Amino acid sequence: MSGRRIYVDIDDVLSRTVESLIDLLERLHDRRVDVSDCHHFDLGRSFDLDDESLGHFMHHAHADEVIVSIEPVEGAVETLDRWSALGHRVTLVTGRPPRTREASLRWLDSHGIEHEALHHLDKWNRPSWNEQDLPALRFEEIADFGFEFAVEDSLETAVRLIEEFEIPVALMDRPWNRDVGLLSRKTRANLVRCRGWDEVTSRFGAAAEGNAAAEGNAVAEGNAAVRSGTSPLRGADEGGER
Ligand SMILES: [Mg+2]
Repeated sequence: MSGRRIYVDIDDVLSRTVESLIDLLERLHDRRVDVSDCHHFDLGRSFDLDDESLGHFMHHAHADEVIVSIEPVEGAVETLDRWSALGHRVTLVTGRPPRTREASLRWLDSHGIEHEALHHLDKWNRPSWNEQDLPALRFEEIADFGFEFAVEDSLETAVRLIEEFEIPVALMDRPWNRDVGLLSRKTRANLVRCRGWDEVTSRFGAAAEGNAAAEGNAVAEGNAAVRSGTSPLRGADEGGER
C-alpha cells in the first residue's frame, strides 16, 4: 500500500492564504472582507478590486515576505508527515507563478511540510504568469504523474483533474467552490467535499492510510468510477452547499 502518488495544492489547502490576503487588503486598502463573503475564486471580485488594483495587489501578494508569513492550515503538516512516513509520494502542484518558488520552498521548509516535489502549473491561463519563462508544468503533463487522488480548493482545476485525467479530488470546502450545480453527476461523484484535513484523511483514508483491506479501497474505486461513471463516492458533494 505504499508509494501512492498524491497531488496537493498549496494555497487554501496547505496554507491559510485567503486569510493572509485579507490582512494584506487591510494594509493596502484600509478595509477587510469576511472569508465567508469570498464567493468568487477571482480575488478581483471577492475583494472588489478593478483590474489595475488587482494587478498591484497580486504583485504584493507574491512578495517573499507575504508568502513566508502565511500560516499553515490546521492538520496539513501532520497529514503530509504521516503520508510521507507511510511511503506515499506527495507532489505539490501550485498555481503560484514560478517566480514565487524560492519563497514557497522556504515556507515549506520552515513548517517542515513533507513533499517529494513542487511544481508550478498555470492553472487559469493568466497573462504574465511566467514572463521570465521559468520552469513550469503544462496541464497535459499531469497525466504523466499517475496521481491517485488530488487535494484542491479551485473548483475549476478540480473539474479538469476529474474530467481530463480521471483523478478523484478531495475538494477543500471554501466559500468560492460551493456552486457545483452545473457539474455532471459523474463529475460530482468524484468530487469529495472535505471540511478539513481530518475529513480528507477519513474520506480517502482507506487508500492513503494503508488500511485498504479493512475499509475498502476508496481511491481505487473512485478511479474506476471515473472511468465507468459509477462511484462509491456518489453523493459525497450533495448537501455540501451552504
Ligand atoms: Mg489553492
